[in-house]
Amino acid sequence: MSTLTDTRQVGKTTPAIAPALHVHGLVTEFRSRRGTVRAVDGVSLTVPRGGVLAVIGESGSGKSAMLRSIIGINPPTTLITGEISVGGRDLLTMSPRDRRKARGSDVSMVFQDPLTALDPVYTVEKQLTEAIRKHHEGIDRSQARKRALELLELVQIPSAAARLTAYPSELSGGMRQRVVIAMAIAGRPTVLLADEPTTALDVTVQARMMRLFRQIQREIDMGLVVVTHDLGVAAELADEVAVMYAGRFVEYGSAVQVLTAPSHPYTEGLIEANVRAGQDRRPHAIPGAPPSLDQLPPGCAFAPRCGYAIGACWDGRPAPRVVDAGHWSSCQLVRGETALAS
Ligand code: SF4
Repeated sequence: MSTLTDTRQVGKTTPAIAPALHVHGLVTEFRSRRGTVRAVDGVSLTVPRGGVLAVIGESGSGKSAMLRSIIGINPPTTLITGEISVGGRDLLTMSPRDRRKARGSDVSMVFQDPLTALDPVYTVEKQLTEAIRKHHEGIDRSQARKRALELLELVQIPSAAARLTAYPSELSGGMRQRVVIAMAIAGRPTVLLADEPTTALDVTVQARMMRLFRQIQREIDMGLVVVTHDLGVAAELADEVAVMYAGRFVEYGSAVQVLTAPSHPYTEGLIEANVRAGQDRRPHAIPGAPPSLDQLPPGCAFAPRCGYAIGACWDGRPAPRVVDAGHWSSCQLVRGETALAS
């Protein structure tokens, strides 16, 4: 199981075996002439090899900025502080050259839109063998082709040999996403980050893709972090779920705890708004919109939208409180022990 804590939560001991991904106190600030926006505000998490963490929340909550900070592809004016280590290797203290080398072999990423991740003018073989040769120095062309074929088979592309010579435009959306996943795992990464990996696909393909993610993740024994606004994806894939709002985690627990017994009003709202095919209820949108990250309200950032808000909610940022073993929530209404370090 993956474990995750707020920056200020107890449990900062280093596990005996280095986890696939360990992030501590991550802060991401976008700087421009108009000022500084803190998109990620003190996020900490740990995902072991074989563990799956889903991060859920509305657009603009900081989920994608967090993933991009971990893999190191934010704009150059971005300031990132905290600790990010993959398999025990600290990414933030590496030289830019080593950091680039770590991309793909230590940490890799699958993006939402497979079309933007693939170059339309090159065949699948060309793109896949280039990804393989980048991570396996000295491998010759025929070995790279053999490995490309194995990867296409691993991601269950039918008639894999014939697909090698295809261009991206000749493949369906589901097949393109499988190629993107094959490229992302070409270097057998320690941790794979997936940013809304099924959003661009139709529902039946989504279900197959989620099974594929699980299977590959077990086969390679990597950690997996999936960012999604789709709670069905989180329920299907994740061991544990983190709920992100205004750049912070506001609730964390096992997928069952968070998705069936939420303890934060924002998580409740996400569940009410998220109706899957076959469910006999109407969706209820959360009132209002997420706050602008450069104009957060005092106290709880969710207070302007929260039907349970009381005066104290505006006074200070709610501390994370233990709801149950392995489950915490940053809400004034939770009466459990504080999860703050003493
Ligand atoms: Fe709502 Fe208050 Fe809890 Fe924030 S702290 S989620 S405003 S009840």
